[in-house]
Amino acid sequence: MVLEAAQQLLAKGLVVGVSGNVSMRLACGGLLAITPSQRFYDELGPEDIVVIDFEAEPVAGELPPSVESLLHIEVYRRRPEINAVIHSHSPFASTLAVIGLEIPPILEDQVIYLGGEIKLAPSPPPGTEDLSQQVLAALEGRNAALMANHGAVVLGLNLKEAIAACQLLEKTAQAYLWALSLGKVTTLSQEAIARGKAIFALRHHPPDAP
Ligand SMILES: [Zn+2]
Repeated sequence: MVLEAAQQLLAKGLVVGVSGNVSMRLACGGLLAITPSQRFYDELGPEDIVVIDFEAEPVAGELPPSVESLLHIEVYRRRPEINAVIHSHSPFASTLAVIGLEIPPILEDQVIYLGGEIKLAPSPPPGTEDLSQQVLAALEGRNAALMANHGAVVLGLNLKEAIAACQLLEKTAQAYLWALSLGKVTTLSQEAIARGKAIFALRHHPPDAP
């Protein structure tokens, strides 16, 4: 599934070459499957996907795991409802990350599925504890964040949702850039933001069944 997701990201133009990484929390708990470091997505086979524990120790697979493994682990530790993480380098999100702009709440689906405004995290060197902490702070209560001069991170309840979130972030970034370039940005009303955030919260923390 991680391999399939990585290849879909490549096909959709959300990553190129060896950039970005994809992971999924494994149902057995305390483990994740993640793409390997510095390998071309179109040459990956199922045996190249690496399984590591929450200490980043290898459990299965021959290749070294993604350099961003610490970030993925930290998300799974802090967000128990999240089961898939994607780090993408998609063009429009990357453009905003270069300009250094956050995305205000401008579209209803952005708020419902990504949680609201998209914050921009500073980007310390890849793979560092500092980077994980900065990105996790920007993801607080949300499923997407931009990484300055680098790319983006999106989360999902499962891999399918994480890929959809990746595409939604890219669409939102594109709409924002077009709106900025045409000189007028209208943000959602407070009511629409509150309604969207309520749906986001309900999807991520459904009330216990009676
Ligand atoms: Zn990257």
